[in-house]
Amino acid sequence: MSATENSISLPTELLPEDGRFGSGPSKVRKEALQSFFEAAPSYLGTSHRQNNVKDHVARLRSGLSALFNLPEGWEVILGNGGTTSFWDAASFSLIESSSQHLSFGEFSSKFVTVVEQAPHLREPEVIVSDPGSCPSPVESQVDTYALTHNETSTGVTTSLSRPDPDGLVIADATSAAGAIQWDSSEVDCYYFAPQKALASDGGLWLAACSPAAIARIEALCSGSRWIPASLDLGIALSNSRKDQTYNTPSLATIFLAAEMVDWINESGGLTWAEDRCGQSSGMIYRWAEERSFARPFVANSRERSPVVCTIDFEGVDADAISAVLRANGIVDTESYRKLGRNQLRIATFPAVEPADVEALCACIDYVVEELG
Ligand SMILES: *Cc1c(COP(=O)(O)O)cnc(C)c1O
Repeated sequence: MSATENSISLPTELLPEDGRFGSGPSKVRKEALQSFFEAAPSYLGTSHRQNNVKDHVARLRSGLSALFNLPEGWEVILGNGGTTSFWDAASFSLIESSSQHLSFGEFSSKFVTVVEQAPHLREPEVIVSDPGSCPSPVESQVDTYALTHNETSTGVTTSLSRPDPDGLVIADATSAAGAIQWDSSEVDCYYFAPQKALASDGGLWLAACSPAAIARIEALCSGSRWIPASLDLGIALSNSRKDQTYNTPSLATIFLAAEMVDWINESGGLTWAEDRCGQSSGMIYRWAEERSFARPFVANSRERSPVVCTIDFEGVDADAISAVLRANGIVDTESYRKLGRNQLRIATFPAVEPADVEALCACIDYVVEELG
């Protein structure tokens, strides 16, 4: 950091109340932490095979069913290891032999690599588009379509739709779940981890599964394919039905996720959350469009994420801006490293206060002026 960056101190009255704008792990609400603090002495350190913990797993599963308005026959299943583990599990327990993937950023491309390396699966069909845009699926002979609701590395949102009536549609919704609406008739398995839009901590995966997805899991997991137990979604399914996980989960992650889901449901559900995120992200995109030194990275305004705002900078070093912000308690606005752009990435998940987003824009203006 240069001397100037070091010495820029943001006026206290400009600062947001909460300085966490990271895209994951993301801001955890203080109210949820307070509830956790009160529950912890009789919750943490108790058996996940007893009702004391299982009740919170049940609260989370039924809260998600309500949040997504899941039709009859759908089930919410869960297991350990986050979304990355779920990709591994999907390569054993959801993809029968062939899959099509939309690859348009770091996360969507990682799942492609999993499938490419799986010796029991065929070479995947991969439809690629440049970072900052998204491709569309095309009807094909594959048994599974792998979509991504919100590509967190680039800030691109897609609308989920079924390319053909037969293939199973599975969607990575890690940064979208709880913030962006989706239509359950277009998807069979909507999976995610709760450390992004759901304002909890990492290490867990959750998946809303249609009857077709459950049938696929049951078929593959009782067939001849060897499946490591921790990646066997059939085992996850039977444990989830008992409000348990196959092995020990993080109890804090479950509690905080359940708190967030309850809060969204009580506040007005997914419509409310989407409006709130749209209000926050809209402020950032409009701010960027009005500034000579900034502009939204995603060219097509309909593809701009309501939860992860990527803003390109010109004539001013974005790394210097994020360093000054960090020194002033506003953290994790750095761009996704591998994207290699002069960019800030700002999360506007439901937990983030729109007023704090407004304050952040004012802070960036101040920093840019000072960096001159
Ligand atoms: C963060 C993220 C992942 C990885 O999640 P982990 O829980 O860290 O494995 C996968 N996909 C998307 C879209 C993400 O945002």
